[in-house]
Amino acid sequence: MTFALHGLAVSQGIAIGHAHLVSHATLEVSHYVVLPRHVPEEIARFDAALAVVRAELIALRQVAEAGAPSEVSAFVQLHSMILDDPLLCQVPRELIATRRCNAEWALVQQMDLLVEQFEKIEDAYLRERKADVVQVVERVVKALLGRPGKLPTKRRSDEQMIVVAHDLSPADTINFKQNLIGGFVTDLGGATSHTAIVARSLGIPAVVGLHHARQLIRDEDLIIIDGSRGVLIVDPDERVLEEYRLRKTQLELERSKLKRLTTARANTLDGHPISLQANIELPQDLTQVKAVEADGIGLFRTEFLFLNRNDLPSEEEQFESYRTVAAALKGKPVTIRTLDVGADKALQRAGQVERVEPNPALGLRAIRFCLAEPPMFLAQLRAILRASAFGKVRILVPMLAHAHEIDQTLQLIRVARDQLRAEKVKFDEEVEVGGMIEIPAAAMALGVFLRRLDFLSIGTNDLIQYTLAIDRTDEAVAHLYDPLHPAVLRLIADTIQAGARADIPVSVCGELAGDPAMTRLLLGMGLRQFSMHPAQILEVKQEVLRSDVSLLRAKVGRLLRHDEPDRVRELVGKLSDS
Ligand code: PEP
Ligand code: MG
Repeated sequence: MTFALHGLAVSQGIAIGHAHLVSHATLEVSHYVVLPRHVPEEIARFDAALAVVRAELIALRQVAEAGAPSEVSAFVQLHSMILDDPLLCQVPRELIATRRCNAEWALVQQMDLLVEQFEKIEDAYLRERKADVVQVVERVVKALLGRPGKLPTKRRSDEQMIVVAHDLSPADTINFKQNLIGGFVTDLGGATSHTAIVARSLGIPAVVGLHHARQLIRDEDLIIIDGSRGVLIVDPDERVLEEYRLRKTQLELERSKLKRLTTARANTLDGHPISLQANIELPQDLTQVKAVEADGIGLFRTEFLFLNRNDLPSEEEQFESYRTVAAALKGKPVTIRTLDVGADKALQRAGQVERVEPNPALGLRAIRFCLAEPPMFLAQLRAILRASAFGKVRILVPMLAHAHEIDQTLQLIRVARDQLRAEKVKFDEEVEVGGMIEIPAAAMALGVFLRRLDFLSIGTNDLIQYTLAIDRTDEAVAHLYDPLHPAVLRLIADTIQAGARADIPVSVCGELAGDPAMTRLLLGMGLRQFSMHPAQILEVKQEVLRSDVSLLRAKVGRLLRHDEPDRVRELVGKLSDS
């Protein structure tokens, strides 16, 4: 049956493909007591479910062997082995008999035990196999509940895998960089959550905040994601499918036309040169950065090197990553942001009891975390400084609010420099240090920052979150996350103007910088440096090339005097003819 779901559009484009449901960490099944006389029936129910899944896997293997990538067939084989392991197919039978519990419950109990054992395994590859155990168990539970997995239909070559999940962390999403995923949809999430940001950097369509997608969609359902409109269509009929295939081709055509702008200089109509830099998460994003000939890296979110692992990356490992990026940019600026963990990007560290934070977004995040862990911070600062010998590296410090945080950071940078000098390790003595303006307090006390730092970068994602008290990851309040709120515009404009007066460069590296609908507004505020996911650079460049800053300055000046949201929105819309 065809149906559509509406959510938040977070990453543009159209994907057509088959659903791949990502498992919940724990399966929610009911628990009930089985009367002794019903135990044999319950065991037979369990056996029947195993048989259903066995047949599903055999059928899957046949499909896989007929042309799917070899990893698919390997993974189906692994799942068949897991299913036939006595720990999964025998022990639950015994549990049903001895504990007189229902089959789902027995199976999930056993799964929890196995998962716990997997988590203790040293070898990272083997440890990760716990996800396969969970997926197999989920298949059996579905069969027990009378909802067996659908078998895959033969795929057309333009159809891809669409990940459907209740929620995805930024750490999950970054793993997609290694896999060919057509797009993803989630029940939870906000448009500027890090999960959404990673989706944009991957250039894959995504829709979040769909509420019940994970429950309504079944494995292998045919799905269309319209990432620009935030729409998901399940089981589309042939007419809709054709329409979307056509739109997909048109979008690809438009994108390829934009490629002509790659080598064009980003000058406005009245001749102002605009710097369009890239945000990256990992060195492997360099391919995209080079493809669009970005003017540099305006934001390297180094925390992604720290996610999906139980240990911290060593100074050496970090140095290698930073050096790779610095060298690849051949003298163009590379702005390396120090670790911004916390909130939705929590570190997992072996042997440490996770502290349940009352409010992670307001907690020990970013620079607060780094200053609380000096040896770790020092290792990162040393790695960044060492990389500065290989390119034009700049250090960017996130989430600053207090003068003493800047002073402490600068002191640690001095320590790192002194150490490297003493060790005769080369680094650039002129490395600039900048700060993110992403807490309203910082935007309202700019003097503190302008006097101490070499440059500023406005993080609009957090600036909006903290100004409006809207959790950027929470779809329940996503409608209140408003970049055009007069208070937000005031803080951004004031920061850009104060920077210009003090002759301290200011850039914007939040998602606003990559939104072509906002380019003219930011230009009119006086912004000359933008940093965004590389996939957006050419579209923003197109706007820059069509803009006249002298006209925009006057119009935006007038716009900023308004505080009625509808009027502000209307005036922003009208900027498109300047
Ligand atoms: C921001 O807050 O706008 C920003 C660029 O940083 P992040 O999205 O990584 O918090
Ligand atoms: Mg931020």
